[in-house]
Amino acid sequence: MNLPFSESYKIKMVEPIRRSTREQREQWIKDARFNLFNLRSDQVFIDLLTDSGTGAMSQMQWSEMMLGDESYAGASSYYKLKNAIAEITGFPYFLPTHQGRAAENVLFSTMIKAGDIVPGNSHFDTTKGHIEFRKAHAVDCTIDEAFNTTLDHPFKGDVDLNKLEGVLKSYPVSQIPLIIMTVTCNSSGGQPVSMKNLRDVKQLANQYDIPVFFDSARFAENAYFIKIREEGYGDKSIREIVREMFSYADGMTMSSKKDAIVNMGGFIGFNSKALFNQATTYNILFEGYISYGGMSGRDMNALAQGLYEGTEFDYLETRIKQVAYLGQQLKDYGIPIQYPFGGHAIFVDAKRFLPQLPKEGYVAQTLAVELYIEGGVRGVEIGTLLADRDPETGLNRYPDLELLRLAIPRRVYTNNHMDYVAASLMNVYDRRHEIMSGLKVTREAPILRHFTVELEKA
Ligand SMILES: *Cc1c(COP(=O)(O)O)cnc(C)c1O
Repeated sequence: MNLPFSESYKIKMVEPIRRSTREQREQWIKDARFNLFNLRSDQVFIDLLTDSGTGAMSQMQWSEMMLGDESYAGASSYYKLKNAIAEITGFPYFLPTHQGRAAENVLFSTMIKAGDIVPGNSHFDTTKGHIEFRKAHAVDCTIDEAFNTTLDHPFKGDVDLNKLEGVLKSYPVSQIPLIIMTVTCNSSGGQPVSMKNLRDVKQLANQYDIPVFFDSARFAENAYFIKIREEGYGDKSIREIVREMFSYADGMTMSSKKDAIVNMGGFIGFNSKALFNQATTYNILFEGYISYGGMSGRDMNALAQGLYEGTEFDYLETRIKQVAYLGQQLKDYGIPIQYPFGGHAIFVDAKRFLPQLPKEGYVAQTLAVELYIEGGVRGVEIGTLLADRDPETGLNRYPDLELLRLAIPRRVYTNNHMDYVAASLMNVYDRRHEIMSGLKVTREAPILRHFTVELEKA
């Protein structure tokens, strides 16, 4: 018999989770104004809200916590992190920040001014928020294939070079401070960007003398997909692939809460000393002195260790196969999901799941609420709520995709938990025809509204 695939770690510490009744959940979600961010974690049985900061640290990371150097300046933890970043990404300069959006805040304060154009592949919500907050514009140049959930394209995070060139030709270079490549592309379904596309984008950017920055939260998962799917990379190590990826960037922002498997943290990496110097002022202003920037010494230690562990093939294979394990069950049941399976999450196509609902009814949010009521499983809407209103017209933006994202925390749940999630969603699918009305908004914030929005049944 062939030996089956099995996880590359065992469990040393456990955390209890609680079941609840359907009646309890119906009351709780009503009290939470149909916003799953408002639920208390003990009202959730399996929490797939996000894979951000929700991973389990390893014994090595916990032991690094004990070695943290909390000196204000020049801490050994800072140098440990600096070395890890230089070794893994190749960037010689870096600034620590408290999380990914803080890295965006510091970098964009340095680079972006009102009226600027920032092309990229489906910018992440906080990235877009930080661009639009500065009265600049994020222009999405992702390939059209990304918006067809049934199409099995290996690199749906790729940028369409014609679209990108169109943007670069339409504006003066002085108005395009940078191009942002998101690896993997979260907003279009955790889909990877090919090495070829990263190389081509950099080449095109060089012609116009525009820097390329990677929004790198899931760079290691992206590297895994390059290894598995792109010709010529099968025999390369994840670290070799990662180094080549970053060789096509002038810098990076990082949410360490994702592929570096820590609960909090971020950083910016740079090639340019001049840019690093400029950004330093904002880092000190917003985040803290440059040798800690919003992080404790112990957290920088755990992050340095996490960067090494997060770029190991066995770990990545365990993770991505678990995501695919859930995806395969949903696929076998005929539930409309995005193909191919993403790196960190399975994305359910809510428009095809609930075609009877009008687009004004917040279709993916409605599905997220139904899944919670069914099994106490918390996913998240990647749809109209997340897309926010157009800052100029004030009208709802209806994105091409209305997705329910089931993001899987790293090294946290077993495949039994995945079976439970799949069964919960199958039960909703069986009664999908009974879901006749969506939701409507009763209160919302002007930007990043999905976190605090309040809704009621339409
Ligand atoms: C999570 C994430 C961010 C923001 O990082 P935080 O640590 O949540 O502030 C930015 N970009 C991408 C692609 C992300 O996934």
